Amino acid sequence: MDAIIPQINEIQELFATAGQANVFETVQFPNIVVVGEQSAGKSSVLEGIVGQDFLPRGIDMVTRTPLVIQLNHVTKEDPKRNREPKPIAGDWVEFSHKRGEIFEDFKKVREEIEAQTVKLAGDGKNISNEAIVLKLFSSRVVNLSLVDLPGLVKNPYPDQPLDIEEQIRNLVLEYITNPNSIILAITPATQDLAASESLKIASQVDKDGHRTLAVLTKLDRMDNGTNASEILTKRVQLPRNIKLGMIGVVNRSQQDIQDGKALSAQLNTEKEFLFKHYPGICHQNGVPFLTKTLNELLMKHISACLPPLQQRLETMKSQYENQVTSFDKPVNNKEETMLSIITEFCKEFLGLGLS
Ligand code: GDP
Ligand code: MG
Repeated sequence: MDAIIPQINEIQELFATAGQANVFETVQFPNIVVVGEQSAGKSSVLEGIVGQDFLPRGIDMVTRTPLVIQLNHVTKEDPKRNREPKPIAGDWVEFSHKRGEIFEDFKKVREEIEAQTVKLAGDGKNISNEAIVLKLFSSRVVNLSLVDLPGLVKNPYPDQPLDIEEQIRNLVLEYITNPNSIILAITPATQDLAASESLKIASQVDKDGHRTLAVLTKLDRMDNGTNASEILTKRVQLPRNIKLGMIGVVNRSQQDIQDGKALSAQLNTEKEFLFKHYPGICHQNGVPFLTKTLNELLMKHISACLPPLQQRLETMKSQYENQVTSFDKPVNNKEETMLSIITEFCKEFLGLGLS
């Protein structure tokens, strides 16, 4: 089943070059929306998933606008990389408020998010409903959207509007009400799950929890003598609105960030931590396992979208076949390749023995 993602990416690219990208409207890639209290670790978790160090993070109210990160899969040879004076070798970002400008330096991406946040929400602690939208192009991602949101707060700062709590709540609800979104409900392990604001708000729109995945951050910060094993092994009863499971993670601390610790180094720290403190369940926790779980959820989602896609593909196939037979001269390569890919795809994944 894993092979379906490169395959989907490949035909998606082909449809796009043939001006048929709308075929994929039948496959609604889900949004993954991160919710939680301020400083729960939302931005840190997102960075872990994306594998790039580019989000403003901190102890204060850092995320003050919705941030929509559209992951775009591109191959290492993608023609989009052909830029003057030199081609783009690694990952890159484009902002929708700065079309055409390529950001290859992820430190600059962070600075741009910070600058745009100030532009949209001012330099105090206000929030803005207007989203910052960026496209991240990488050969290591699948096409899906991640949404980072301002953290839920209880008490306004002196320079915040009195109804900031409600404003943020409404903004979060706006994003998680979409039945096509997966809610990543973040709770720090230092807090009681019963008091989790993220699970509370998720339960308002996803009552039975079938699209809520809980993430427990800051496992490394728990008081001496306490441990999240009981929760992570589900030996204690979990709130009923978590159907997609609960995954514990260890992100970088503020000190790590100040010391410039790399994300890759943190993955090792997390692995060692889980192995030492949660030996029996270390493989079902951690950022890599979270990413794998999200991939699997995405795959399930795509499978559910396959029947309508299958219909569209069948129609297109016969249209192309008709076109091909009506040509006197040999068909050009693009159409031929497209036809063979559709046929392969139908055979392999949709169980259609079309020839
Ligand atoms: P957000 O406000 O929910 O987006 O939270 P951030 O991702 O900005 O994180 C808030 C602070 O908590 C930052 O200083 C992070 O370094 C720190 N933090 C986040 N996750 C962890 C974790 O798992 N362990 C530790 N020690 N610190 C963390
Ligand atoms: Mg944040």
